[in-house]
Amino acid sequence: MTERFEALRAGSEARRAELGLAPRRAALKSLSQVLVRRRAEIIAALATDLGKAPDETELTEIMPTLSEISHSCSHLRGWMRPRRVWPTLLMVGTSARVLPQPKGVALVIAPWNYPLLLALGPLVSALAAGNAVVLKPSEMTPATSALLVQICAEAFAADLVQVVQGGADVAGALLDLPFDHVFFTGSPGVGRIVLAATAKNLTPVTLELGGKSPVVIGPDADLTRAARWIAWGKVLNAGQICVSPDHVFVPRALLPQLTEALKGHIAKSYGSDAGASPDLCQIVNSCHYARLSAHLSDAEAKGAQILTLGRDAPGRNLMAPRLVLGSTPQMTLLQDEIFGPILPLIPYDDLAEPIARINAGPKPLTLYIFAKDRGFVRRVAAQTQSGSVGVNLTVMPFVHNNFGFGGIGQSGMGAGHGKVGFDTFSHLKPVMRNQFSLLTLLFPPYGVRTRNLLRVLLAYLR
Ligand code: NAD
Repeated sequence: MTERFEALRAGSEARRAELGLAPRRAALKSLSQVLVRRRAEIIAALATDLGKAPDETELTEIMPTLSEISHSCSHLRGWMRPRRVWPTLLMVGTSARVLPQPKGVALVIAPWNYPLLLALGPLVSALAAGNAVVLKPSEMTPATSALLVQICAEAFAADLVQVVQGGADVAGALLDLPFDHVFFTGSPGVGRIVLAATAKNLTPVTLELGGKSPVVIGPDADLTRAARWIAWGKVLNAGQICVSPDHVFVPRALLPQLTEALKGHIAKSYGSDAGASPDLCQIVNSCHYARLSAHLSDAEAKGAQILTLGRDAPGRNLMAPRLVLGSTPQMTLLQDEIFGPILPLIPYDDLAEPIARINAGPKPLTLYIFAKDRGFVRRVAAQTQSGSVGVNLTVMPFVHNNFGFGGIGQSGMGAGHGKVGFDTFSHLKPVMRNQFSLLTLLFPPYGVRTRNLLRVLLAYLR
């Protein structure tokens, strides 16, 4: 492992002098061509690992990765350009630029839930910024991870990208190496381990973590539209999405109507037996299936009513979507990130209740609001904290190329995607040039002239 890291480090140092636009674009385009050429293999790997429908793999794995590449290629010239900085009063007589420079060798650690997109998305940003990369995909999706080795070997020079497969032990060994940036996507628990490990080498780190992303429905919400977006965001990838709506706060009077609308939309998308739909993704493995079943048993034992929308096929880790009524904060469903097709619906009488509950917990990655009244949307967004906010939609803030996407507090630190991702993997180096700086007039020895000048300056600064 150390030898592979050293080879990347040597390659990265050799390239530093000639890290122009063309080789970066060439690397990104090469990846894009390999992805298009190997589409069928990607679809097959995702079907093996997650039972994902081909169309869903195209829509949620291949397309957003290609979009990140094409967006980066189109904007790279501008992103790489030195950024002019205007002088402040004391800086008159100088000029300054911010020079984006590659950090060096980056480590990308990816999760299993979108094993292609969440491995290659940060890799694209790191390469756009001119870095060499070690990619550590998830051990939980072995078919996709093995394919990523082949894809990267075909698309990139060996001294530009290396893919290292393995689990926690391999990730731990990688984290001992003095990378120049670590980009980790995964659970808050492992995020803590990564942050502690990177402290040893003072390596800068981006943590894209998870958590409970709540939905708040307003009294005037278009419930049909809300149910459509919530049902989609909850059942897509069987709810195994960091930005999946975790639970819904709904005005008490609207609860029956919302429940019916959600049932209707899930049936429309996945049939009356959603568990038997070929479009429903499977739970990644039996451990996660058991984790979700334990949440359901706990909720049922504590008095929740569970509406099961179809039959499960535990042998194939297929879990039918569930709506949960009558949940309480004592239930594990409302304590841990659900990360599965289970949706608690929580009635409220006064908006202050959901706001207080959201603010009492860890800061969510995303918060969704469904309402027509802009005042309601403003109040919820202003009085809560979350990595991002989606209004009258779900999931989409994650895939907007012109947004930086990241969490806050327990849902993460730093951000990725598009230009923000490029900046994350760059050192934004200020370069300042003296032309006729008047500051020399304030150099010692101090005296009357200094004091007069300081007086003038202070008058300006007041
Ligand atoms: P995870 O934390 O279990 O694993 C993520 C990666 O960390 C894997 O590659 C794994 O091998 C590695 N890892 C495991 N133990 C490690 C250790 N001790 N030291 C170093 N690395 C270790 O997460 P997961 O189960 O793969 O993914 C699900 C989680 O990821 C959820 O919490 C979800 O919300 C979050 N997530 C966040 C985003 C985002 O953009 N914020 C996106 C997708 C998933």
